[in-house]
Amino acid sequence: MPPPTAAAAAREILTGLHEIMAGRGSAQSKLDKVVDLVAGKMQSEVCSIYLLRDNKLELFATYGLRKEAVHVTRLKLGEGLVGTIAAEGRILNLAEAAGHHEFVYRPETGEEHFHSFAGVPIVYRESPIGVLSVQHSESRRYAEVEIEALQTVAMVLSELIAGARLVDGARRGRLRSAGPIRLMGLKLVAGMAKGQAVFHQPRVIVEHTVAEDIEAERDRVYGAFRKMREQIDNMAREAEFGAAGEHQEILETYRMFAYDEGWSRRINEAIDSGLTAEAAIERVQQRTRARMREIDDPLLAERMHDLEDLSNRLLRIVSGRMGTAAQTGLTHDTVLIARNLGPAELLEYDRRRLKAVLLEEGSLTSHMVIVARAMGVPVIGRLPDVRHIVEEGDTVLVDGDNGSVMIRPSKALVTGFEQRMTLSKKRRAQYDAVRALPARTADGIPISVMMNAGLAEDASSLELTGADGIGLFRTEFQFLVSATLPGRESQLRLYKRVLDSAGDKPVVFRTLDIGGDKALPYLTSAAEEAENPSMGWRAVRLSLDRSTLMKAQARALIQAAAGRTLRVMFPMISEPWEYEQARTLFEAQVQWAEQGNRPVPSRVEFGAMLEVPSLAEQLDILLPRVDFLSIGTNDLTQFLFAADRGDPRLAERYDWLSPAILRFLRRILDAARQAGVPARICGEMAGRPLEAMALIGIGAENFSITPAGVGPVKAMVRSLDAAAVRARLDQLLAKPPKDMRKALTDWARRHSVTIS
Ligand code: PEP
Ligand code: MG
Repeated sequence: MPPPTAAAAAREILTGLHEIMAGRGSAQSKLDKVVDLVAGKMQSEVCSIYLLRDNKLELFATYGLRKEAVHVTRLKLGEGLVGTIAAEGRILNLAEAAGHHEFVYRPETGEEHFHSFAGVPIVYRESPIGVLSVQHSESRRYAEVEIEALQTVAMVLSELIAGARLVDGARRGRLRSAGPIRLMGLKLVAGMAKGQAVFHQPRVIVEHTVAEDIEAERDRVYGAFRKMREQIDNMAREAEFGAAGEHQEILETYRMFAYDEGWSRRINEAIDSGLTAEAAIERVQQRTRARMREIDDPLLAERMHDLEDLSNRLLRIVSGRMGTAAQTGLTHDTVLIARNLGPAELLEYDRRRLKAVLLEEGSLTSHMVIVARAMGVPVIGRLPDVRHIVEEGDTVLVDGDNGSVMIRPSKALVTGFEQRMTLSKKRRAQYDAVRALPARTADGIPISVMMNAGLAEDASSLELTGADGIGLFRTEFQFLVSATLPGRESQLRLYKRVLDSAGDKPVVFRTLDIGGDKALPYLTSAAEEAENPSMGWRAVRLSLDRSTLMKAQARALIQAAAGRTLRVMFPMISEPWEYEQARTLFEAQVQWAEQGNRPVPSRVEFGAMLEVPSLAEQLDILLPRVDFLSIGTNDLTQFLFAADRGDPRLAERYDWLSPAILRFLRRILDAARQAGVPARICGEMAGRPLEAMALIGIGAENFSITPAGVGPVKAMVRSLDAAAVRARLDQLLAKPPKDMRKALTDWARRHSVTIS
């Protein structure tokens, strides 16, 4: 088949295939016709189809080899050229088949007359289910267009084969050889879970491969390319991209691929040969995948993921399936798989069905992780290949306690895992018992353990968690889950509900902390957002500029707390004047309510969050003006270390137990104590028993932590001698050991402190 007529020949093959498939007859008789057709159109002396049956590749149909070999010749996966193609999903194109190290000779086929060989995998739902091959007696390599024609035929064939259920696993869409795999990632939220894999952005399965109208398919692809390029350009412009934790370099690669003329040309050529837009995109992707496999370069492999991503995006656009799995709805216990997720995206999922999240990226203090922790959903991050290893519907066991994931586990593994899950539940039940007890150290120091919240449901679970109150209510969560700006009425309803369910227990509302990785599309426009959003126009900085927003929130809070104590704090205060301005604005709203004879709180307490190091240098100015101080260790550590809290590459680089942090915090705690201002630590750090122990060691007595941490932290507190740990921290911080974490763990073990 000389190249100039290749597209025409491919189209003729497709038309022929279409007729064969639409015609009558058994699947076997159709396969027989297919090999005759391909051999004829490609002027090839042999054309054979091997299909996977009982885990062996069986010769199902042939033109040119001995007919006696049909259903007799069988090869193991990985055996011979055909077995290699199926096992590795590779394409082979050989001028001299017998010269290949995998070649095995099967006398019953009579193939000794043929020298050249080309074979492509027949793939169904991303797994090889068979092989299509051609052979010639002359020794020559096949042209690229011929290989592509074979791939096109293989694609159409997969539909026929799967439909007729001729192969193993076609119904499940998975090769039997894809056995269990264990992956280790970074533990982001602890907990154990079992569920079925669901992709946040579902893969599109190509159903129809043969085009009815080539021009219409071409238009569809053009339209999809336009839309995809627009999306990528928008991502580049918009701050949300950074907010989702993805990186500039990924974006650059996306852009490069999106505008790659070669890619769109190849897809167009595939459409010319008679494929639908979807099939053409998929066929080109298969070819690229196969090529990349031949080049063993890890850097290229990484880029391949980006191209896969983009190719999937194009498929979703062209097939109109743009929604995430949250929009489709979860139907069973689910382990969600994503490259990365934003907090708002996570909140869209049904909390009853979502059992765990696996991310290719992810970092410990990103807001998505904080939300997941609040939802009690285990999360494991830093699983770079997970979207390519897991298939939709696979059973997945997630052990968030040690960061391991088991994909497609055997029955025995599931049983063992379920037993451990029961044990862990029992352990949690023990914590439940502790939760109701007061958090008092062994030497009698009372420690206040409050919880962080942000969703309406959190407040109702306050009693259950045993927390002393809500030390941080993240009001922005309501904004994150809403498509438009929540009005004063809906804010009022939420705040009232929270206060009502908290009863006598205190609730500290934090005013909006929007920006950073909590971008709101309807509030922060691309033009307003900076390169580095967490250090940009966020939190109180934004609130002071958009005072209407702050006023509406203040009025809602004031009205909700009518007749009770209202506790408010402002996030990201960098200079005392910011606190003063925010407070003044708030007080003006109280006056406004009083003047209008509206009910007001019996008392309002104001606090500042210390999250920006500059404020630590001005405590003498700030402390006399505040009723309380709240230390947000998540932001504080990112600014102290200059390490983006959302960057997965820095996720494990700096330790919360580093002397830098502990010394810094100690200074703040000392200053607050001397000024008689209560200081509470409310970042993720304090929710971990060992870290909380160290914090008590530097003088902290008030915590606000993730609800799941209340039991373990209380258990630690009750087993701890505060005076002893303070003395130990004094020593350790005076002359810090190389490994502070180890030193503290050893000390805790020696003194029987419950740290896990
Ligand atoms: C913090 O920064 O530590 C904090 C509690 O606030 P957030 O995590 O919501 O930024
Ligand atoms: Mg913060």
